[in-house]
Amino acid sequence: MSSDAPVDTPVPNAAEPFSGAPVDVDDRFEPPPDIILRSSDSIDFHCHKNILAHVSPFFSDMFGAVSGNQDIQKDGKAVIPLVEPSTVLYGLLPRVYPAHTSRDFTLTDPVDLNDICAIHEAANKFQMVRAQVLIEDMLLHSPLLDLHPHRFFAIGCIRNITPLIRKAALCTLRDTTDPVIPFIPEFELITGNRALELVNFFQRCALRAQLIAGNTNSVHHEMLALAEQYHTVITSHEASGQPFVWWRADGHAAQCGPTDEKVGGIWTQEILPPQWYRNHVRHVANTLRFVPNGATAHSAAIDVAPAERAAIAACPECAQYALRDLANFASQLKKVIEWSNEEIVDTTWE
Ligand SMILES: [Zn+2]
Repeated sequence: MSSDAPVDTPVPNAAEPFSGAPVDVDDRFEPPPDIILRSSDSIDFHCHKNILAHVSPFFSDMFGAVSGNQDIQKDGKAVIPLVEPSTVLYGLLPRVYPAHTSRDFTLTDPVDLNDICAIHEAANKFQMVRAQVLIEDMLLHSPLLDLHPHRFFAIGCIRNITPLIRKAALCTLRDTTDPVIPFIPEFELITGNRALELVNFFQRCALRAQLIAGNTNSVHHEMLALAEQYHTVITSHEASGQPFVWWRADGHAAQCGPTDEKVGGIWTQEILPPQWYRNHVRHVANTLRFVPNGATAHSAAIDVAPAERAAIAACPECAQYALRDLANFASQLKKVIEWSNEEIVDTTWE
């Protein structure tokens, strides 16, 4: 060990609870610390060998090996110089001290993310398996994931946490006012390939969502007859199997209702729903091109534009059933899009 810092150099102590200050035994029982971890920026963390040895084979081995052979001493405790800065130790040590795990470090403030990769890396180096799992769990359940999904994606790539990569990638499909990926410090640490994976993932989801929404613009008559065989072509009520009003022939106004499609004077096997519905699903498909997620699919599918609303009102059959049927269509579309996105996540990051 180096002796750059002799005994009388005033190295400051860390903040509570690692300050080494005596504990009032009437207040709480806590044995005094018996080892000091010195950060690379010269802050002394007063710790307990037993706790470190319990959570870390790395420290357990170290204490076994260097027992009675420490170069540096302070307050009668051995000092272990580390390459980790104090920010990392402040992030890591409360995770391995059972009484301190629930405070100080909740990942609700973006500042908490600044050192998270280094903290996770240190936990890995010190073989603090439980602390590593705890940090991954905090990342996966952080409320910041929704707000900064690209950042969490990059953190997942840097630390090779596949569940985080997948969850963050799905979150990048959410509504955003600014489609441009913001500046993210962690992006400097991932390869262009990883960034490209995310771009490709978004495009695959967008393309598939567009197809799923748009594929009821006209359907083969067999699809209507055998709706349950075509899971991604939503033409009928989920529970009853009853076709939606725009596929039912009876009761519509003269200009409304489904029609058999004719191309160049020849009947095709395709059935066209009323014009208002075709306009509407085209709009839904366009929306999903930019924000391809289930919630957006749902809100776009129930949000009927004024022109289509007027057409619905002008037909007695559609006026009675269209909005109710669109609500059912919307909730099925949401599920299918979410299923589709998750399938793409599964195949992109196995
Ligand atoms: Zn109608």
